[in-house]
Amino acid sequence: MLTLTSPLSSLFGVGPKNQKLFKKLNLTTCEDLLYYFPIKYKDYSRLILIKDLKQNEQVTLKVLLKEIYSERSPHKRLFITHTTFSDASGEIEIVWFNQPFLNQTLKVGRSYWLSGQAKQAFPGLNFEVKEYEAVGRRQIHTGRLLPSYSLTKGLTNRYLRLWLSQGLSLTSLIKDFLPPDLMAKEKLLTLNQALAQIHYPNSATGLAGVKNRLAFDELFLSHLRHQIARNVWQKQAAPAIPFDLKLIKKILRALPFKLTTDQRKASWQIIKDIGKKQPMNRLLEGDVASGKTIVAVIALAQTARAGYEACLMAPTKLLTRQHYLTVKKLLSPFNFKIKLLSRDVHFNYKRQNKTKRTNKKGTIYIGTHSLIEDRFKFNKLALAVIDEQHRFGVRQRAKLIAKAGSKNTAPHLLSLSATPIPRTLALTVFGDLDLSILDELPAGRKKIITKIVNPLDRLKAYEFIKTRLVKGEQAFVIYPLVHDSDKLAIKSATAEYERLKNEIFSKFKVGLVHGQIKAIERDKIIKKFRDNQLQILVATAVVEVGIDIPNATMIIIEHSERFGLAQLHQFRGRVGRRQKQGFCFLFTESNSEKTSQRLAALINCHNGFKLAKQDLALRGPGEVFGTTQSGWPEFKMADIFDYQLTSKAKQAAISYHPLLEKYPLLKEKLKKFVKEAHFE
Ligand code: ADP
Ligand code: MG
Repeated sequence: MLTLTSPLSSLFGVGPKNQKLFKKLNLTTCEDLLYYFPIKYKDYSRLILIKDLKQNEQVTLKVLLKEIYSERSPHKRLFITHTTFSDASGEIEIVWFNQPFLNQTLKVGRSYWLSGQAKQAFPGLNFEVKEYEAVGRRQIHTGRLLPSYSLTKGLTNRYLRLWLSQGLSLTSLIKDFLPPDLMAKEKLLTLNQALAQIHYPNSATGLAGVKNRLAFDELFLSHLRHQIARNVWQKQAAPAIPFDLKLIKKILRALPFKLTTDQRKASWQIIKDIGKKQPMNRLLEGDVASGKTIVAVIALAQTARAGYEACLMAPTKLLTRQHYLTVKKLLSPFNFKIKLLSRDVHFNYKRQNKTKRTNKKGTIYIGTHSLIEDRFKFNKLALAVIDEQHRFGVRQRAKLIAKAGSKNTAPHLLSLSATPIPRTLALTVFGDLDLSILDELPAGRKKIITKIVNPLDRLKAYEFIKTRLVKGEQAFVIYPLVHDSDKLAIKSATAEYERLKNEIFSKFKVGLVHGQIKAIERDKIIKKFRDNQLQILVATAVVEVGIDIPNATMIIIEHSERFGLAQLHQFRGRVGRRQKQGFCFLFTESNSEKTSQRLAALINCHNGFKLAKQDLALRGPGEVFGTTQSGWPEFKMADIFDYQLTSKAKQAAISYHPLLEKYPLLKEKLKKFVKEAHFE
């Protein structure tokens, strides 16, 4: 007997070949198939008579086959089947191409449902049959809202519908895992109703409720998981870092600017959090150049002052070097130990082990992944800051935390994200984190003037740049590739560096950085650029995140079609980071509609959050929000921007997560959900 856990091969017509195809789609059991939701529906629910056929209307006919014969067209090598059907209102001739099997399947004297649409032909109308099936059996291909699925080569919607219709009766075996009072409160459909209706909805209007139930499930389960993780996290102990107002005042007084209200708010939230004996887990989110670093530095200083270790982990060496300089400068009056950790600066791990025993004052470590290498040991790590956190995988974050002491203790954790994840999304995807947001940019920032440069105006653009270079400003020039490639006609950083240095900007000092240059060399070049010994920096995407060169006001991006919108926004964020007007010049060799849409969005919009949303419409979330998070496969139905439903699901998760033992079905479902989404 068929059950939910039966393998798909138990369905009639699923042999080894189709099983393989199912495997490709990650489907093994009948239940998996029920959860393989349609991506869209075709509406063939309107049943009409032959005489009422009108051009371009999607309809279904119920007709009797009167005649069928086939022929081969002489020159076009087509196999043509001629048929005549009739109903009470009249007759219709229908021609089918290259479907020789119709001779066997269609029987004269039998009735059929034909779904499709009439197209203009000469003379009259020609009915294009999209789906058909014999009258008498359950209708699964015609005469209703018809599901279409995301397919893989070799699999057709027709087969999928056939198998689904076999499995659909299994929905009655499904036990609802949602607590009944929650279902009543949120007015949700039952799960078996929803699972049956999502494939074969009775009506388009009913579909909303169906989707709502399935979307709620995903969000609720996701938030349950967050709440449990949060609970586990907060059960650990963390050192309470005392609030040192004097220290903060001193740091702030030494700053060349005043904190924005958002920065102050975020700092205060963090200071309060780290003052507790429970570990903080907070995400500080702010657009490019919103000033996240200083907020982190305040927390680092507090921690070091209290005698604990703190660390700041960043994804690239360039960025750690920059942070090192910033932190050193900001905290120079306080005598903290600040160490830049990297193989290239020959950090002495052996000596570290000796000194740590005598080390009374807190040390601030700054490094890349080197911080999570086994040979590096923390002593009393109380605060871990992860910059550009989306660049790190879940495992790397976990490893950092695990290094910080014994089983039941954890450091306070502060993640910084420049990837503009909208609030709703953050709430959904980072539901176990507390959120601080820097919405406003520091005062006095000017909108960066962004332009697509016509190739004919290239020299003009160079001339313009020169006029500002003479005034002491600096420019980046970005290329997608390091070296010229045989296969792609794309400019590369190394080749263009020669041209720019020798021909265009021969009067200026030009530098080159890319990923294939040794980190230690790269540091030197960036330092030169930072110190204004170079006026132009030719670079690849290595300068994409975080780099802060106050005097750089111009950026040229070549082949801008090859970069994502968020990435372009990040590049643009490298300039105009202080009071001076910034410029971003985009070159592109693409005429595609998509490129012009993307670039237009960049020109018209300077808000990373809004851009991310537009980018999402053009590409998937995985692509938009970085490579380490490959989309959010757990949300098949839920709209991650649906704030209302997300909030409801979160509230429900908060109420029900302590009661999980009372709801074994829910507990089991959650386990499955977590496993399938590869969280663990
Ligand atoms: P991001 O949020 O992208 O990490 P940074 O922390 O690097 O941004 O800050 C960007 C620039 O803005 C830095 O040069 C920093 O010194 C400066 N900055 C930060 N806060 C303010 C402020 N309140 N007013 C003026 N400039 C600020
Ligand atoms: Mg930054």
